Amino acid sequence: MYLCLGCGSNLRFDIATQRLKCDSCENSYDVREYDEIKYKEDTSMETPEDKAFYDSVVLSCPHCGGEVITNDENTVASYCSYCGASVVLERRMQGVKKPQKIIPFAVSKEQCRKNYKDFVGKAFFVPKELKNDKYIEQFRGIYMPYWTYEAAHEGELHTKAESKPERHGDYLYYDCYKVDGTVRDKQKGISFDAEATYDDELSKAIEPYDYRKAQEFSPAYMCGFFGDLPNVPEKIYSKEAGDISDSITKQRIEKISEFKDMDFDKGLQDDISKIRKMEKGESTLFPVWFLTYRKNDRVAYAIVNGQTGATYADMPASIKKYIIFSLILAIPIYFILEVAITMLPTTLLKLVELVAIVAVILYFCNVRKVKKRESHEGDKGYATLKADTKTEINKISKEEGNNVKKSKLSSLLLKLDIWVVVFVILIVVVSFAGITNFIGNIMPFAGILTGIVSIISNFKEDENVKRAYISSVGIVILAITMIISGVVDVIKPIQDWINYIAIAILLIGIVSCNMAIIRKYNVLATRPLPQFDRKGGEQKG
Ligand SMILES: [Zn+2]
Ligand SMILES: [Zn+2]
Repeated sequence: MYLCLGCGSNLRFDIATQRLKCDSCENSYDVREYDEIKYKEDTSMETPEDKAFYDSVVLSCPHCGGEVITNDENTVASYCSYCGASVVLERRMQGVKKPQKIIPFAVSKEQCRKNYKDFVGKAFFVPKELKNDKYIEQFRGIYMPYWTYEAAHEGELHTKAESKPERHGDYLYYDCYKVDGTVRDKQKGISFDAEATYDDELSKAIEPYDYRKAQEFSPAYMCGFFGDLPNVPEKIYSKEAGDISDSITKQRIEKISEFKDMDFDKGLQDDISKIRKMEKGESTLFPVWFLTYRKNDRVAYAIVNGQTGATYADMPASIKKYIIFSLILAIPIYFILEVAITMLPTTLLKLVELVAIVAVILYFCNVRKVKKRESHEGDKGYATLKADTKTEINKISKEEGNNVKKSKLSSLLLKLDIWVVVFVILIVVVSFAGITNFIGNIMPFAGILTGIVSIISNFKEDENVKRAYISSVGIVILAITMIISGVVDVIKPIQDWINYIAIAILLIGIVSCNMAIIRKYNVLATRPLPQFDRKGGEQKG
């Protein structure tokens, strides 16, 4: 506990002054000075084992098992930052292993809320709950555990290089060099988040942190904040950290002006790795403002880098908002088409066919991105995680594999202006350039073909993709309506009402396809509820 030496009230770490502050009597203390005063009295009794741990209040969620620590005994936490459940967290006192370093919070909660509002403010389709002030108030400052690595390259390097080729007649000439030299290079703060359930994609979204601002750890920095504990062993990232440091040194060598017209031997990075000395990873706490939105059995996170203010938020879309928006947009479009251009129903049908084809393309781009992301997760970082660790961590890393982040394309779809631009371009093209006879004639066939192809590709999807996205029904509806309206367009009925009916059912198809895109997008934009499995790890009972 950190108590005011003047009045005995709880102290908090003040971000603006980077000092411990008492809100009752306005006293403030330097972190180091306070620790010296505090620990002067009772250090004689401490063993090295005691020094490695410090007493903390551990708050754990009865729903997901997620834990945060705090050093304020009076904290009552009434919701869980990981699964978003509104529940009073269970508390216990526990010795917690001390991290070595900490980057203190530098971005205030006010600034954090402002950054978040700017971030979600532009996204029109985001559910209004996500912009609610009361919800935004729940941002919680959490120190997330990272492993930070330090590597040095020192020694003699012997490698080869060749100049850019020069052509003489039928021959290419290279100059070959032997390059010998002494390398001295050092990298600090190569960092990886050490909480397996804190999705790597999520943590990367608000990096980098400036490691040079890291301080020796003191529990004082935690006053008024929460902390999380590492559950990934240090050695998991040490190889990757080594590789990264090698490639940094390699880039630095290649940038030296004398070498700029040369290509180094492929073995350069291997040679560099031979002169690398690597320190054991240090446990470091990085500051993150954390906000959780829960709907049914999915969660969406918003995070703000507590040092730089970099912001990321999972942004699901509200189907209700989409429908309202479509209806509102339909009114001006109707007037433009009917009043200003006095368009023939047959021309209008062709225009709607064009919109339908655009919707199909967007849909399949989205599906492809989902698949790409999923397969990417299957083989990369997590595979190495599985290879060198215990079964328990295996389990956690597998659960994390379900997390997917939204694709860039689908996030574009959420922006109001993109849709307006698409519609305006189509209207301008149709009204001024006119649909030429050629395009007009192939349009129904293009529509029919797109319909058939999308039905086939939808049923060719493997079972996993289909099960994950029940919404594929939306694309089938659009495909069928495209075929029907295409046929109508080919027959060219004289009665206007038949054309209008074809237009109407095609519009229904487009709307159902767009709703399918949004549902799919929402699976991407949110995450399954986390499940924590905390056995062993960094705690002392
Ligand atoms: Zn005081
Ligand atoms: Zn929870």
